[in-house]
Amino acid sequence: MEPPAVQREPAVPAATPGPERVFQIAPEEDLLYSLSADGTRKFIHPTVRQGRYWKIRRALAYALFLLFFSLPLIPIGGHAAVQIDLATRRVHLFGTIFHPTDNLLLVAFGLGIVVTVFFVGSTFGRMWCGYTCPQTVYLEFLFRPIETLLEGAPARQRKLNAAPWSGRKLAIKAAKWSLWAVVAALMAGTFVAYFTGWGPLLAGLATDPGAWTGAIFTLCLLTALILFDFGWFRDQMCTIACPYGRLQNVIADQDTILVAYDERRGDPKVKVKDRVPDIVAGDCIDCRCCVASCPTGTDIRRGLQPECIGTAQCIDACDVVMLGQGKPIGLIKYTSEREQKGGRRRVWRTRNLIYLAILTVAWGTFAGLLLTRGEALVEIVRGGREPYRMLPTGEVANQQRVRITNQLPETQRFTLEVVSPEGARLVVSDSPVTVEPAEHVAVNAVTTVPPGLFVDGQLEVRYRVTSDRGFEKELEFVLLGPFTLPGGAP
Ligand code: SF4
Ligand code: SF4
Repeated sequence: MEPPAVQREPAVPAATPGPERVFQIAPEEDLLYSLSADGTRKFIHPTVRQGRYWKIRRALAYALFLLFFSLPLIPIGGHAAVQIDLATRRVHLFGTIFHPTDNLLLVAFGLGIVVTVFFVGSTFGRMWCGYTCPQTVYLEFLFRPIETLLEGAPARQRKLNAAPWSGRKLAIKAAKWSLWAVVAALMAGTFVAYFTGWGPLLAGLATDPGAWTGAIFTLCLLTALILFDFGWFRDQMCTIACPYGRLQNVIADQDTILVAYDERRGDPKVKVKDRVPDIVAGDCIDCRCCVASCPTGTDIRRGLQPECIGTAQCIDACDVVMLGQGKPIGLIKYTSEREQKGGRRRVWRTRNLIYLAILTVAWGTFAGLLLTRGEALVEIVRGGREPYRMLPTGEVANQQRVRITNQLPETQRFTLEVVSPEGARLVVSDSPVTVEPAEHVAVNAVTTVPPGLFVDGQLEVRYRVTSDRGFEKELEFVLLGPFTLPGGAP
């Protein structure tokens, strides 16, 4: 058996109480795994076993990289597949354009996201963290492999870190940070491109950088933050900064999937060299390969802990050890608290059924609104300063603003007409109204009607809006006019 790559410090007994007392904490018991007993940072260099779960995570990570880097490069309807256009306050999502006025859609989307997080957390525990969270995915499958490529296996990384500065160490560290900086800049550029598009961003930086100072500042800041996070802060993001781990404690229950050590099978832990015929020993040979493989340094044998981010790297590591010992795999495995106590895991229970029901309603509403969305948004609002004007002809005129948003990826020409009541006339400042894809246009309009039609100073008028792309919609609007007195005189 290969010796473990990481050894924790032995527990330090508390010093004798008294005036000279130096209070020491046993790191195994009370400290974060990334802290030494004196409070200094302990960098974790996990020794990964490329087992079955690691291979699944790697495949998923590569798919997520592809998705993140390619979406701003795929053109659909004149924009990137996903683009958040802050200047025009529009979101382009695979050819569909969302406007700030799509408030119901946004509410359904936001509710869907929040409840999905609760459902996933309650059902699958921290699998989100281990398999899909960008922090884990980019650290374990992009930044750490670059480190391993340049500095060697974890043991060599630790040795290099402990060695005094030399030309060789400087060259390796400079190469690693330079490569990381390139990757970080590419990630930051991609992130900014989700807002600006790659084409305008590159063209703007090349031809008129002075007009792109906001984007340049964001690029530099993001690159620095990514370098700080993946180069130095690392596991502390999960164990100290991220609120999801704390939230997980609230949304998980006895049936939530978790990674756990089977202490009934593994204990008592006895090292291979101490196993003699008469000794009672469990399957755990206390090799600490599970601890050495953990990206947060967690000893999963101590039970469920908030530092465990569900990477399953300890499962892969322990499976290799068990196979080497000729024992069945699964001493560390996916299970639940109920299964650990000898019960049977319930997949469906009240908690996650409620989450599922709410998220089905939220996503169903979102999909329904999206599918029934028209090709355009048309709105008529009151215009001008006076509620109405009496014309010399005796007719009553109301000024209006007609706002049209083209929700199609093609140009549309809109025509407005008044449908009822009889005798009503409509004059539009610009007709037909040409609206470019995803554009918003407002035009002035005046509706004129005979005075005798008003009841209590109001008259409901019906309009029809059509476009050369087949759009058709009827709208109602209440005109204001004179109160009609008995006998028909205004
Ligand atoms: S749980 Fe498995 S990997 Fe961890 S110390 Fe025991 S035998 Fe080794
Ligand atoms: S304890 Fe195991 S599952 Fe949890 S973070 Fe460490 S390696 Fe991953």
